[in-house]
Amino acid sequence: MQLAVFRYILGRKLRKADKFPLVLMLEPLFACNLECAGCGKIQYPPDILKKRMTPQECWQAAEECGAPVVSIAGGEPLVHPQIDVIVQGLIERGKYVFLCTNAILLEKNLHSFEPSSHLILSVHLDGSEPVHDRIVCRPGAFQTAVAAIRAAKARGFRVMTNSTIFQGQDPATFRNFCDELAALGTDGIMIAPGFAYGKAKQQELFLQREQTKAWFRQALKDWRIKGWDFNHSPFYLDFLEGKRDYECTPWGLPLRNVLGWQKPCYLFEEGGYAKTYQELLDTTVWDRYGRASGHPACADCMSHVGFEPSSVLDAFSSPRRFLELVREFVALGTTRKTRAAAAAPGRRPLP
Ligand code: SF4
Repeated sequence: MQLAVFRYILGRKLRKADKFPLVLMLEPLFACNLECAGCGKIQYPPDILKKRMTPQECWQAAEECGAPVVSIAGGEPLVHPQIDVIVQGLIERGKYVFLCTNAILLEKNLHSFEPSSHLILSVHLDGSEPVHDRIVCRPGAFQTAVAAIRAAKARGFRVMTNSTIFQGQDPATFRNFCDELAALGTDGIMIAPGFAYGKAKQQELFLQREQTKAWFRQALKDWRIKGWDFNHSPFYLDFLEGKRDYECTPWGLPLRNVLGWQKPCYLFEEGGYAKTYQELLDTTVWDRYGRASGHPACADCMSHVGFEPSSVLDAFSSPRRFLELVREFVALGTTRKTRAAAAAPGRRPLP
């Protein structure tokens, strides 16, 4: 997948493309089977919550924008009655698909999917059991997700986890959680600070920018030595720790949902929806957004949705930067191999 993304970016750079997508964020529905405290998607009125994108609409969005990776979120994708058809069609089109799920319905739906190097099941787990169950407002959700991860791994699926960080989460506890995920045998960890959705029911949950940096400095202080397998550019993790500074590039992870291509970014809507990705690029006034713009919605945002593409493109900004990234990947690969070989049998597994 990394090689495919690398080739794709190089191709766009050689063609001197100014703005291009890396990951298509696809929300084929907003409906969900949970009501998480920090969610800003499930508050739409019932007529919108009932909407479902058709498989053809999903495939057309993927073909139209051309991103090599598609991340299917929502809402809960497994609630969509044709999610297996959507996923299969995207894989047939050569896309790498992240199927994001809270895993409540995962175990009983595994038979609908085939393990593939192009399919990653991305399970929502915000931390250890008490933390996760509190944030998703559902006792038992953690245990359900862990059981589904075990079942999926046993069937040969690639499984990663995605965690959103909110106010009150303890960095030390999160570090233990990363060790536990390694013991569970997951294939990668994704992590990002929560975005302050105006519609979320618990507004006090969200971290401000300096709090975010302080939290990640504690949580990630020696992640390279630990060998935790983050599915992020190391530059983005540096950014979260305040070691690098970026402006956002929200067109890199555009959102197509049941209403169209959301302007300006995945995280909030302002200015309506475009009919095509090109229209999104052409009609969004990009200077109005990002931290430098002073837009209040952007002040505390450090989300991967805006800044991971910035960090990836930074690596392609000069040969020196690119070499820096290559060295990072080589060193991380070596650390992970060494740690896997020496995996301590006494490591504490997830309950
Ligand atoms: S900083 Fe960028 S990604 Fe974040 S909310 Fe603003 S426009 Fe969206």
